[in-house]
Amino acid sequence: MANFVKDFRCTLCNKIYNELEVVYTCPSCGEKGILEIEYDYKAMRKFVDKCYFRTNPDFSMWRYHHLMAIENKHIQKMLKIGGTPLYKANHLHKSVGIKSLYIKDEGQNPSGSLKDRASGVAVLKAIEKGYKTISCSSTGNAASSLACHAARMGLKTLIFVPKRAPIGKVNQLSIYGSNVVMVDGNYKETYELSKKAIDHYGYYNRNAAINPYLVEGKKTVALEIAEQLDFSPTDWVAVSVGDGCTIAGVYKGFYDFYMLGLIDKIPKLLGVQSSGCSPFVTAFETKKSIVEAEENSIADSISVGIPRNPVKAWDAVEKSNGSWVSVSDDDILKYMRKLGTKEGIFGEPAGVAAIAGVRKAVTLGIISPIESVTVIMTGNGLKDPKSVEKAINPPVLVKNDFKALEHYLKEKGEN
Ligand SMILES: *Cc1c(COP(=O)(O)O)cnc(C)c1O
Ligand SMILES: [Zn+2]
Repeated sequence: MANFVKDFRCTLCNKIYNELEVVYTCPSCGEKGILEIEYDYKAMRKFVDKCYFRTNPDFSMWRYHHLMAIENKHIQKMLKIGGTPLYKANHLHKSVGIKSLYIKDEGQNPSGSLKDRASGVAVLKAIEKGYKTISCSSTGNAASSLACHAARMGLKTLIFVPKRAPIGKVNQLSIYGSNVVMVDGNYKETYELSKKAIDHYGYYNRNAAINPYLVEGKKTVALEIAEQLDFSPTDWVAVSVGDGCTIAGVYKGFYDFYMLGLIDKIPKLLGVQSSGCSPFVTAFETKKSIVEAEENSIADSISVGIPRNPVKAWDAVEKSNGSWVSVSDDDILKYMRKLGTKEGIFGEPAGVAAIAGVRKAVTLGIISPIESVTVIMTGNGLKDPKSVEKAINPPVLVKNDFKALEHYLKEKGEN
C-alpha cells in the first residue's frame, strides 16, 4: 500500500523534512521544534473514502493505518486499541444544560485510557526502527499504556513517573513488567530526568510531544467519533488538556477527514484544564504567552505545569474556533458522581474534567444549549481509587443479621 506521507514540517520554523532526515524534533529548532506529519490528501482521497470504511472489517484503530504513517507489518499481533463506544447521554445532558451530549468512553481501551492509541503507534515505530527498549516519562497513563503494549510486543520499558502518580496506574506498570523509576519530584522534574536518561542510553522515546508519530495514534479518536456520527460530528468536542498532545491529535483527526472531503466542518474544540493547573487557560484569559503553572489538582493526568506541546494545542483550539475553560476539583468530583449515577460510566478525574468544562462553558455562554457536544472520557476511574474516596460516601458496615439489614434499609429510606 502506498504511503501517503508528504513531509514533516516544523511547527515553529516551518522548515520541511523528509522521513529519513528526522527522528524526533526539528534539527534547527531543537526540542521546541515539534514536527507535524503532512499527507498527500489528493492521493489519499482516491483510496480512503466512505466505501473504504463501509467495507473495512477491522474495528480497532488500525482500520486507519493508511492515515497513520506506520507500516502494518505487526498490527495483527497487537492488542485491540480503539473501537471504543460513543454513547449518547440518556440523562447527563440535562445537568450539563444542553440538548445533545455524547460520551466517547476511552476507559475501555486495553490499559484503560486514550493513551493506548499513542503507545500502540510508539511500540510499532520502535520495532520498525529496530529498538529493543522504549522509554517515557508520564503522570501515569502514558506510562501504563506503554508498559502494556510493549509487554505484548516483547519490548523492554524504562518508565519515569512522579511520586504523585496514582496507585492504580503504578500497579499497572509492575504487572506489565516495566522497569519503573519513581522520581522524587513533580512531572516537570520527572520529564527532565527521563530526557537525560533516554539521550544517554539511546532508547526509543515515547514522550508524546516530541515524537511526531504519536499524534497520528491519538487522532484516531476523532476519526472514530466522526465515523460513529455518520460523518456529521457534533458542534463541539470537549477534551481535557495537559501537555496538549491529545487535543492536537483530535484536531488533526478532524482535519484529515475534512481534507479528504468526508466531513464538511471541523468541530469547535473546548480545551479544559483544572483550575489547580491551567497554563493554557491563563494564557487565553490574560492574552499573554504561556507561563509555568503549579501542578495542584486531583486530575493528575492533566496536572502539567509546563505543557510540552503548546503550539499544536493552541492552534487546535484557535483554528477550530473553539475556547478554553478551567474547572475546580470540586466540580470534577461532582461530575464524576453524576457521570456514574446518571450514565453508568466511571471516568478518572482528568476525563471527567471535560464534562465539568462543558457545564462551565454553557454557564459562560460559550456553548449554546442548542449545540451538540461530544466529551472524550479519556481514562477509567478505577485507576485512581484515592480520588474516588473524595467523591463518595463510603458504605457503612452492616451486621450479618436480617433484622439489622431491615433496620439499615429503613434508615436509608430504601424500603
Ligand atoms: C494524558 C491525558 C490527558 C491529556 O492529554 P495531553 O496530551 O497531556 O494534553 C487527559 N486525560 C487523560 C486521562 C490522560 O491520560
Ligand atoms: Zn524548526
